[in-house]
Amino acid sequence: MDKINVSRIQDSFKCEVYAHNRWRLGAQPVFEGVPMRIGSAWHAAMESLMKGGSLDMAHQAAANVLSTVDESMLPEKKLDEFIEQSELVRFLIPHVSFPPEWEILQVETELQMNLEALDGTIITLRGRPDAVIRWNGKLWHVQHKTTNKSVSWPFYEQAIARSFHEAAYTAMLEASKLYSEPVAGTVLLGMRKLSLASAKKDPQSCFHRAFIPVMDRARALQTIVRRGSYILKEDVVFEADMPLQLLQNRDSCLGSFKNMPCAFLEVCNGQRKLEDPAYFKHVDPYAVYAEGEETP
Ligand code: SF4
Repeated sequence: MDKINVSRIQDSFKCEVYAHNRWRLGAQPVFEGVPMRIGSAWHAAMESLMKGGSLDMAHQAAANVLSTVDESMLPEKKLDEFIEQSELVRFLIPHVSFPPEWEILQVETELQMNLEALDGTIITLRGRPDAVIRWNGKLWHVQHKTTNKSVSWPFYEQAIARSFHEAAYTAMLEASKLYSEPVAGTVLLGMRKLSLASAKKDPQSCFHRAFIPVMDRARALQTIVRRGSYILKEDVVFEADMPLQLLQNRDSCLGSFKNMPCAFLEVCNGQRKLEDPAYFKHVDPYAVYAEGEETP
């Protein structure tokens, strides 16, 4: 039996080298960039609130993440961005509310599902939805997202409706049979990073909430089986084939991953080593799934 998670499969579609470094070798950039840290801080605060924590606890959860950023390492422009967006997170936390008719069933709880790979190996697919709620006789997977100020919500909702990630989580929740109600889809809880001045004029303009039915669940499971089978096989041969893989990916990646500069670009260019502790830490990428452990 081998384990695999939804993010690993999703990452492997974008770049196999990235997915291998991140999920097989457990290499994580020491600093993942301002947008990632702001997103994590917001996520930590929302997790705390959804678990019934006080505003103070939510502020503390966000502060714990923000304090991991070494401000002296940021270039001036990035530092300004980080300071303003940190303030935005602190300002917006008290303006968040969840409808009282929502029944919050679980927050950051792992779901697992066993699937048979093409060679008969059992793949244990793992994932941790931000939360699961019961509303209007149906179950919904809650997804917190921070976005930049120019996001088009209708477009974003369309993307979520056909997202592999959402379909996989929905399918896992269905397969878990934890609850009797049907699984309807995803509740998007968006926080748009407007300027602090705009947020102060109208805090609610930063928030977006949408109930999005998720499509293609059966296809998501089929994709997981196919891709998961490929990844497990690839784990065995990948290291031997690395130079070839790098060349193949380098042609198409242009150094960005998920619309951000890729953390492994200098490694792929042979200018830095994954073993350099100033840039990469090595962690068990699945440790976050250990029982009882909280996300940062
Ligand atoms: S730099 Fe390109 S090839 Fe290398 S890991 Fe990143 S996306 Fe993949």
